[in-house]
Amino acid sequence: MGATTGIEWTDSTFNPWVGCTKLAHPAGSACDHCYAVAFGRRLGVQWGGDRKRTRPENWKKLRDWNADGPRFQRAHGRRQRVFVASLADWLDNQVPLEWVHDLCAEIDTCTNLDFLLLTKRTENYRKRTPKSWHDGSPANVWLGVTVEDRLRYKKRFPLIARIPAAVRFLSYEPGTGPLGDLDIGVSVIPHWIITGGLSGVARERSTIFPPDAVRETRDQCQAARVAFFHKQWGHYGNNPLIIEQGMTIAQAREIDPDDGPNKNGKGGALLDGRLWRDFPTSG
Ligand code: SF4
Repeated sequence: MGATTGIEWTDSTFNPWVGCTKLAHPAGSACDHCYAVAFGRRLGVQWGGDRKRTRPENWKKLRDWNADGPRFQRAHGRRQRVFVASLADWLDNQVPLEWVHDLCAEIDTCTNLDFLLLTKRTENYRKRTPKSWHDGSPANVWLGVTVEDRLRYKKRFPLIARIPAAVRFLSYEPGTGPLGDLDIGVSVIPHWIITGGLSGVARERSTIFPPDAVRETRDQCQAARVAFFHKQWGHYGNNPLIIEQGMTIAQAREIDPDDGPNKNGKGGALLDGRLWRDFPTSG
């Protein structure tokens, strides 16, 4: 919950509250292995129970980062990206509405920051946001949706597609099956797609994210000029150096490290010999 983070696609994280309820699905759900549960436990949050709002000192960080925005821009040549709610879902309907409106008010105020809002509950956008957001999210919001496969892409993305937004993005992580054609007949496709395999569980219990599913998405992104970011394979059991080229984990780790100073992410992240770490343009 801080100014720097291990999440490769953001500069900072901000958690307005902690806690959520898992979404179940017969095909399996990204929530099944929610990494935030363990963080919540350490903070005294029972998953599925009451959400815990973070302290005012934590909220104040947004104003501090916002004040620092001009310096950040000079130093990095772009605006600071803040991923909101890495330990929650910002459109969770069990959060007091007042908290969500407080969050939206801070986002409206902190115009030097870009806020990356990621949800699995796209159906709640209009129910949970203030009226001023209903016909479009503010210019400093990147609206994102988590999808595991085509089924969830077709279900969740159309609800985001209808909302005017500076950036619409997909977190296709943990990917469990192909996304298929990005064009699902809703007039827009995402501006940015992040892919990644499931990490943090024993390899034998983990899901497989086929390299060809990632390639298919990358190729469509390239053809449609969509920014593509492959975060990691999750574990070496997904890494193409092993499953396509027959290397051992030790050999793959030498080429595509998950530790050391040049680590590429859990299980490595190379796809066809390179890292894919593109971002959409904004503001
Ligand atoms: S929606 Fe996100 S935070 Fe909530 S249980 Fe699922 S993975 Fe965890």
